[in-house]
Amino acid sequence: MSEVRVRFAPSPTGYLHIGGLRTALYNYFFARNNKGKFILRIEDTDQTRLVEDAIENLIKSLEWAGVEYDEGVFVENHQIVQKGEYGPYIQSQRLDIYKKYVDELIEKGHAYYCFCSKDRLDHLRDEQKIKGLVPKYDGFCKNISLEEAKKRVAAGEEHVVRLKLPHDLDIKFHDLVRGDIVINTKDIDDQVLLKSDGFPTYHMAVVVDDHLMKITHIVRGEEWLPSTPKHIYLYDAFGWEKPEYVHLPTVLNKDRKKLSKRQGDVSVDDFRLKGYLPEGMVNYLALVGWSPDDNEEILTMEEMVEKFTFERVSKTGGIFDKDKLDWVNGHYIRSSSVERITDLAIPYLIEAGYIDQEFAENNYEWLQVLVDTVKESLSTVMEVVEKVKFIFDDELEIVEEGAKNLLKGEQVPELLNGLLEELKNVEEIDMEYAKTFMKTVQKSTGIKGKNLFMPTRVAISGSEHGPEMVNILYLLGKDKIIKRVNKVLNDL
Ligand code: GLU
Repeated sequence: MSEVRVRFAPSPTGYLHIGGLRTALYNYFFARNNKGKFILRIEDTDQTRLVEDAIENLIKSLEWAGVEYDEGVFVENHQIVQKGEYGPYIQSQRLDIYKKYVDELIEKGHAYYCFCSKDRLDHLRDEQKIKGLVPKYDGFCKNISLEEAKKRVAAGEEHVVRLKLPHDLDIKFHDLVRGDIVINTKDIDDQVLLKSDGFPTYHMAVVVDDHLMKITHIVRGEEWLPSTPKHIYLYDAFGWEKPEYVHLPTVLNKDRKKLSKRQGDVSVDDFRLKGYLPEGMVNYLALVGWSPDDNEEILTMEEMVEKFTFERVSKTGGIFDKDKLDWVNGHYIRSSSVERITDLAIPYLIEAGYIDQEFAENNYEWLQVLVDTVKESLSTVMEVVEKVKFIFDDELEIVEEGAKNLLKGEQVPELLNGLLEELKNVEEIDMEYAKTFMKTVQKSTGIKGKNLFMPTRVAISGSEHGPEMVNILYLLGKDKIIKRVNKVLNDL
């Protein structure tokens, strides 16, 4: 077999959707698994939908996710650059190429000029809708002779070029996931190939580029499945060898609907900003619509590359389960170093107003203890903000009934006073001191076990549950503890 060459071909119409990232991932796995090449091509033929900086953002998201490619469009020193011998890889820079192939189709009788006005087409569509028909071009310009059509084009008449499909032809192709597929041309429109602005449509550009860029496998979302017969027809019309096809199941939400912006996060950037780790995101997303044959759920990029096959891609939509994502992400947070999670957590802590940049620079060790204290319980790095809130709060509010009851114990005043007494003996609480503190209070007050620990925890942290006491003592520091204990004593 010739060298495997696959591509990810996003349109720069916004941010990278997580469904898009999954498509990119499967292409990447397949390319690496087969020691082939992976190409990033930008499909910007719809000039009305372009979004500023979308290419840079797409590339940034792929980079963040660790999806590396070999050819195509890159960003280096804030500049878009292209690499590879089949460029340009940005479709708007390939207009001459498409024009040449559109002309070839016209000459061969596989395409025709169409001069229908927008009004006529709108009217036609409305009529078809009223009759309950699927909107489709009626072939009005199909029989204009090429000679006459060329004259009208030369005279400057506005036009598009359409694919000239035979009326009743079964178009067959094989999908590596879905098997054999047959669609009759009766159910396909005479697709516009070249628009009046001189840009090709997606259908024309995708076929020309995949051919010229020697793409061997087209791996894309199932929303493109109905378009594939048109592409197959074009390959045949040009006499080109066809690639293999793989259409991936859509990423769905829990209601089995397409994930949409209206229901919340859909872009890779949304998840990055919420504090998901790239490994967590990539590992979980890969499992939406694919599983390795050992059904392992925690997988590194290398393991996925090694285990990936199209046979294990499912035919039906994969459900994006946020709880599962959180679980997988939590796993990666727990197995990351404290330094890494601290570095990622600092911007959130600054954003929440708990600390500022200067504090972060001068108190890195303290911040590491802070993050380490809650790290085990995080699903996302962003959650650090709510988990450590009680450390930064000025006033503690004790809301849990159980916690309130614990403070009603008859030993509590003596315990809290003993605690305050003991604190008089130190300047500040360091880790060493924090480790011995409760023992010392136990000795001086004679209160022990639950009676000692639980009310102390509630008084200084506001809750009966929570992280390691030693860490809490160290993180709060002497002044804050005294303030909190006094407040509780006053309220008793
Ligand atoms: N430009 C298309 C998209 O944005 C790519 C479809 C394909 O891979 O053929 O999804």
